[in-house]
Amino acid sequence: MTFQQARRAARMNPSIIREILKVTERPGVISLAGGLPSPDTFPVDAMREAAERVLRDSPREALQYAASEGHGPLREWVAQRLGAQGLAVEASQVLITTGSQQGLDLVGKVLIDAGSRVAVESPTYLGALQAFTPYEPEFVAVDCDDDGPLPDALEAARGARFLYALPNFQNPSGRCMSEARRAAVVSRAMAIGLPIVEDNPYGDLWFETPPPAPLASRWSEGAIYLGSFSKVLAPGLRLGYVVAPKPLCPKLLQAKQAADLHTPSFNQRVVHEVIREGFLEQHVPTIRARYKAHRDAMRAAMERHMPAGCHWNVPVGGMFFWVELPEGVDAMALLPHAVERGMAFVPGAAFYAEHPKANTLRLSFVTVSPERIEQGVAILAQTLKEHRA
Ligand code: PMP
Repeated sequence: MTFQQARRAARMNPSIIREILKVTERPGVISLAGGLPSPDTFPVDAMREAAERVLRDSPREALQYAASEGHGPLREWVAQRLGAQGLAVEASQVLITTGSQQGLDLVGKVLIDAGSRVAVESPTYLGALQAFTPYEPEFVAVDCDDDGPLPDALEAARGARFLYALPNFQNPSGRCMSEARRAAVVSRAMAIGLPIVEDNPYGDLWFETPPPAPLASRWSEGAIYLGSFSKVLAPGLRLGYVVAPKPLCPKLLQAKQAADLHTPSFNQRVVHEVIREGFLEQHVPTIRARYKAHRDAMRAAMERHMPAGCHWNVPVGGMFFWVELPEGVDAMALLPHAVERGMAFVPGAAFYAEHPKANTLRLSFVTVSPERIEQGVAILAQTLKEHRA
């Protein structure tokens, strides 16, 4: 017996990154490929104490089914925090999701029909392409420079269901949109009636100065905003949120209900217990300081080792360097040679919805020690020189 699969199943693909990680996470290989936060930043003691308090004070509520919208006090907390970052929202607009990845799926489910056009940055977050693809969109890749989407390029997205944008320390490119670019992108999007889906899991991880206010703060009725606790607490909690304009909230809620009824009540209560009295104000700066030191180590290693003709950004937050190799070098073809010599990266082509640039790659700097970053970059540079010789 063979099952007849749905059309959408045929469009689902294994994440190239996960496939690559299987090969590269061999002992001895310095992996700059992963996209994981550093486990050394997970607040284990605070979580343990909060879990004990929740199980002592509200065990039955924490272990019972709960509202699909999410835990009320956590929704309030999110609304307040976003308010402090310039995005005024009501708690009733906050939907707690099982990771912001689920938020992307719900957005796709509610907004995309087969054949709908969806505008994405170039490159963009691979997991969003994966989340949207089963809903059968046609992607429109919007041209970008080091500052994000080019406002004029948005013309090509006229009529699309939305623009999916990552203004802060983008995965994969690491770039952060300036205030001026944010203003220009939003005003063009408003002019052509192109709604925005703004994904911001990395915004708190800035190294020098906080990023400008969210795109959604400039266009509250035209933007959906996604946030996450994965990079400021721990990704294993699977806790994120979607903030939507009020008319859209009931549909997102119904999609959420159908998907998983609600996000685990226990996790929501424990996290709220951890953060409710300002824990993140001390905790997040320790993550920033750590990631900044790693960023500096990678910058120094890149400057020391990479051959002429390679270009990279120096990220001012987040977790990634994005590298452009000389024209004609295929990062995918380079990868097995790099792995053989003891380091791994993610080839950049997978992050493009259209017109992949084969000569790009992504390096993560947060899970590997500065010494191993230095070694890993040296191996990458050596592999590249041999490959070109
Ligand atoms: N958006 C982006 C840009 C990401 O990089 C990630 C995680 N890699 C997610 C969303 C999903 O994060 P989570 O589901 O853990 O909140």
